[in-house]
Amino acid sequence: MNHAPRRIAFLTAHPDDHEMMLSYQMLAALAAGQAVFAYVATDGEATTVGDPEFVKNHGRRAESQAGLASLGVPANHLHYAALADGALSKPEQTTKLQRDITTFLRTHHITTAITLGPDGGDHHPDHIAVHNATMAATAKLAQIHHPVAVWGLNAAGQSHHTTAAHGHLPQKLAALACHKSQFPLARNAADIPSAYHHFLQAETYDQCFPKPLRWPATPPPTFATS
Ligand SMILES: [Zn+2]
Repeated sequence: MNHAPRRIAFLTAHPDDHEMMLSYQMLAALAAGQAVFAYVATDGEATTVGDPEFVKNHGRRAESQAGLASLGVPANHLHYAALADGALSKPEQTTKLQRDITTFLRTHHITTAITLGPDGGDHHPDHIAVHNATMAATAKLAQIHHPVAVWGLNAAGQSHHTTAAHGHLPQKLAALACHKSQFPLARNAADIPSAYHHFLQAETYDQCFPKPLRWPATPPPTFATS
């Protein structure tokens, strides 16, 4: 039996997306001893929140590095693509994104990818672009290199897998608090935008690729521990 840790990549568009929407599952994977990687497509320079000079000079990347470190992701498992924030759905950025994600998944021998769902979680075009690029990249890898199972965040909450807070809310808030330019008071749940409050209770996921033939016959080990 192969006891090597799974290699799980969490892919998002913006520097605070992991902490906001995927951090319970990241904590669960890390607690299970799995190798966790994080991919951030942009440096979040298009935000309308925070000091404009700080944001323009890619200061949000440092906030992301601090937030992901606080969750326990090793520094050498982080990848920042520095693509154009707010423009990932444009054809030339989409092409770069898909190519970069393919290289990232292949280089790190990723076996499971977890990203935003088909609706991007909140219909943000950049979020949807990362979902689509991840699906295209994994479909290509399955043909030429190795299969990668993809799970997508389901914001509606009726999904095949739920990762509940399990007492980890303080860790999620501490990671969000690293994003001082965006959430200066994020140590309190009340300071998180209400649109994201359901992600403080639980994160839910559906398998996107390959489609499960018979759920829940073969859930990936990454979810068996939560
Ligand atoms: Zn985002």
